[in-house]
Formats: sequence, structure tokens, C-alpha cells
Amino acid sequence: MGKIILTGDRPTGRLHIGHYVGSLKRRVELQNSGEFEKIFIMIADAQALTDNADNPEKVRQNIIEVALDYLACGLDPKKSTLFIQSQVPELCELAFYYMNLVTIARLQRNPTVKSEIQMRKFENSIPVGFFTYPISQASDITAFKATTVPVGEDQEPMIEQTREIVRKFNSIYGETLVEPEVLLPDNKSCLRLPGTDGKAKMSKSLGNCIYLSDEAEDVRKKVMSMYTDPNHIRIEDPGNVEGNTVFTYLDCFCKDEQFAKYLPDYANLDELKDHYKRGGLGDVKIKKFLNAVLQEELEPIRERRKEFQKDIPYVYQVLKEGSEIAQATAAQTLAEVKQAMKINYFDDVELIASQVERFK
Ligand code: ATP
Ligand code: MG
Repeated sequence: MGKIILTGDRPTGRLHIGHYVGSLKRRVELQNSGEFEKIFIMIADAQALTDNADNPEKVRQNIIEVALDYLACGLDPKKSTLFIQSQVPELCELAFYYMNLVTIARLQRNPTVKSEIQMRKFENSIPVGFFTYPISQASDITAFKATTVPVGEDQEPMIEQTREIVRKFNSIYGETLVEPEVLLPDNKSCLRLPGTDGKAKMSKSLGNCIYLSDEAEDVRKKVMSMYTDPNHIRIEDPGNVEGNTVFTYLDCFCKDEQFAKYLPDYANLDELKDHYKRGGLGDVKIKKFLNAVLQEELEPIRERRKEFQKDIPYVYQVLKEGSEIAQATAAQTLAEVKQAMKINYFDDVELIASQVERFK
């Protein structure tokens, strides 16, 4: 059986450079590698509603934003199925059955959910839907028999939860579901890109983002006001590159040839870091370099997005057709799941025959 990808994003805002280095860029490379039989990219609106139940308009408005970001980055509807989660009701049905295979204690141990609960200040009023979203994510992944899930580090506990559900399901009901593998970014700095404030991860919900669709001037302003090393006050002072967001972004984005182009005094990032650590290198200089590096990466994305923005009905059509394909695929898996679970009463001729015997 060929390899299959399932991954996606919550429509809670436009996509940012954390999504890009954490998952999106890799997806496009994998899509174009030709190694995958099928690629499903999901806009997780149902999951977004688990912590935005009172704000459906936010979710509705952001579907198109995420879809535009996808197309702008090079996801190609001819090669990848782009779809909307809520349009595949089979996913809810799968989640309902998987819930029987997971304990409350197991969900409570999930470190990502724990920190998200804190971040959202849910305290004692955690929505059940939010609490159980790792189970719903297991449905999303298994419905498409995904072998490979390219995501950022925060998603690792979800994939582990999915693997546990698959193992448990298969051991009780027989080999039916496929155990997926997580595919994290190779570059360690990209696992969890920090926000421009240097705190936590860059996240739509925290407002510390550089968006893929930001205008050039907005990117420049955000870069120039970024968090660096708070103890690097005078240019002569030795600076710290660890936990220094500007260097983390350079780790993720800059290429050696960009030094020759924009900062020819240095051959590569190691040389720049060494100078910063020794002292005598000002933050403004490295921020200007980072700005040039980011502009080079983001400009083509921004321009392509503007092209797709001219034909919004086309983008909805892509999502509609993708959702139909996704729905048919998930329905096939659901049928297999129901058969394995012995809840396929009407298409099982042997069942009726055996009951006839039983009541003779
Ligand atoms: P929200 O705050 O609504 O949860 P988010 O910014 O965390 O939004 P998601 O839609 O939850 O974005 O995540 C989509 C994908 O992007 C996931 O694979 C996730 O791991 C990855 N991702 C999100 N933020 C980052 C980040 N800062 N660094 C690396 N990867 C990230
Ligand atoms: Mg998230």
C-alpha cells in the first residue's frame, strides 16, 4: 500500500511563518516529491469550534484565509485534496466510537492540551469537545488511512494518542486501521517557532505572529521590534544567541548564499553568531539581514496569494470538490470500522441467517 499524508490547520487566523516552517513548507515538498499516493490537507473548522463555539463567524471567515495561504504556498489541488473537516460527517462518527477506547486520565496527561487549557484560561470550564479533540484528531488521521502526518512538535502527543487508539482498535476488532507516523521538521529550530515577542510559540491565538500574507512593510516593522537578548544593551556587549528570537528565525530561514548577497562580511550564520557572542555586533544589523531573508521567502507567496484572491469562487470550488473526495474516502473507512465492530447489521447476510437458526 502506498504512503498517504493527512495534516491540516485550524481556521482561527491567517497562517504564519511558524506554520510555514513547522509543516506547510514540508507538505509542499512532499507533495511535489511524488512519493505519496494520496495527500489530504484539512481545514479543521470543527476542531476550531471546540474553543471558539461562541465565535463561529471567526471560523467561517478564516476558512478562505487558510485556503488562500495553502494555494499561495504551492499546495496544488491537482496533487493534494484540500477539504473542510465539518463537511465530512463520518469523522464525528469515528470519534464517537474511538471515545470508548480512551480514558479520561489518558486525555488529562496530554501535555499540549494541558498547556492549551492554561493558555486559554479555561480553568474549570473546559469544553468537553476541546478536551476530547485528540480523539477527534485520531479520526481525522485514521479516516484517510494516513501513514504520515507532517506537523510541528506540539502535535506529537496527538499522533501518539492516535497510534494508541489504532493499536487498541486493531487488537479488539481485528486489523482495520493504519498506525501513522509523525514527521517533524528536520531543523530543530523549526519544531516550535517562537513568537516575535520571544515568548511561547508563534500562535494565531497569541497575536505574536508574522503572517505569510503580511505586507512587506509590516514584516519589516515586526522584525525591527523583535525580541533579542535583553542583556545585549550596548553594541560592544557580548550577546547571547540561545533563546534569541532573531537568531532562531535565521536558523530556520537563512541560506549561506544570502550572506554574499546581503551581509558579505560573513560567510555563514556561524560566523555571524560568533561575532555576536564576542560583542561588537548590533541588533539592528542582524534584524536588517533577517528582514531581507524573510522578504525573499515571503514575497512570492504574498504575490501568488494576491492572484488567487482575484478568483475567490474558484477557491471555494476547490474546497467543495476536495470535501467530496474526502467524504467518500472517509465513508469507505467508516464502513470497514463498522464491519469490524459488528455494527453493520443490514449488509451482513450471515447475521440474519444465523438469527433464523437461533430462533428456530
Ligand atoms: P491556534 O492558536 O488556533 O491553535 P496555531 O497557530 O497553533 O493556532 P494550528 O492550526 O493549531 O496553529 O497548527 C497547525 C500546524 O502548524 C500544526 O502542524 C502545528 O504543529 C504547526 N505549528 C503551529 N504553530 C507552530 C509554530 N510556532 N512552530 C512550528 N509549527 C507550528
Ligand atoms: Mg494550535
